[in-house]
Amino acid sequence: MNAYLNGQFLPLSEAKISPLDRGFLFGDGGYEVIPVYSRHPFRIDEHLRRMQATLDGLRIVNPHSNDEWRAIILRLIEAAGFADQAVYIQVTRGADIRRDHAFPQGVTPTVFLFTAPLVGPTRTQREAGIAAITATDIRWDRCDLKSVSMVGNVLTRQLAVDAGCAEAIMLRDGFLTEGSSTNVFCVRNGIILCPPKDNRILPGITYDVVLELAARHGAPFAVRPVAEAEVRAADELWITSSTKEVLAITTLDGKPVGQGAQAGKPGPVTRQMHAWYAAFRDEVMRVAAV
Ligand code: PMP
Repeated sequence: MNAYLNGQFLPLSEAKISPLDRGFLFGDGGYEVIPVYSRHPFRIDEHLRRMQATLDGLRIVNPHSNDEWRAIILRLIEAAGFADQAVYIQVTRGADIRRDHAFPQGVTPTVFLFTAPLVGPTRTQREAGIAAITATDIRWDRCDLKSVSMVGNVLTRQLAVDAGCAEAIMLRDGFLTEGSSTNVFCVRNGIILCPPKDNRILPGITYDVVLELAARHGAPFAVRPVAEAEVRAADELWITSSTKEVLAITTLDGKPVGQGAQAGKPGPVTRQMHAWYAAFRDEVMRVAAV
């Protein structure tokens, strides 16, 4: 039982939805991905809060209370045959009986979850960092909503794959926004820089953890618009996400990131932040296990 659909736990291969589901027809829904370590979900309250914000933005009534969500998620985690997981949650506006853009009346949201083994960066990616390209941000104006309408992110990620890279980081009007499925941080002259959480980026759960850790350990940081020129002249760049955690970008558009002996290698601030992140995650999980 690695899936849940509208009240039923079932194997993922048996989960079926209507082709008139508005998620399928219009990308009319929201989603979340929660990392799970040793069967303990990490930052579940924050993920549920962000899902509520997404559903509010999409004007979909949340079909469950947080207690109900927690019960579904924990049961799915328990039933899985592996301990480290990524739980995917999707809520769409539901299955209509016709295709019409306007909200249907009296339709129940579709609730779909599945869990899969948590796949983090490879050892090589962790040690050497990843190659990234820059791309124009072609997405809409509400990137703060975790909507399943993701074709802009899909096309952007494919540009990276076509270039033999792991991620594409996006620029809008001369400023950094985010990666195709990650937030982006830049280090210049020892200061961590990242764009503010506005309508142009997803408010990443890992982004918040990183800024909390920077504050806690006294690492200087500034949350402000980051210009393309600053990205290109960065001493260090890293991406964050729930599955990638903190991961160095070591080449950008084919050029090594950073200067001198550090060029093209994960930098000291990136390595320190990843170490803080890993220690924090382990501590949270240790407390959860007691
Ligand atoms: N930006 C985008 C576009 C994403 O898809 C993700 C992954 N959900 C992130 C940022 C990182 O968010 P989080 O740290 O919550 O995984």
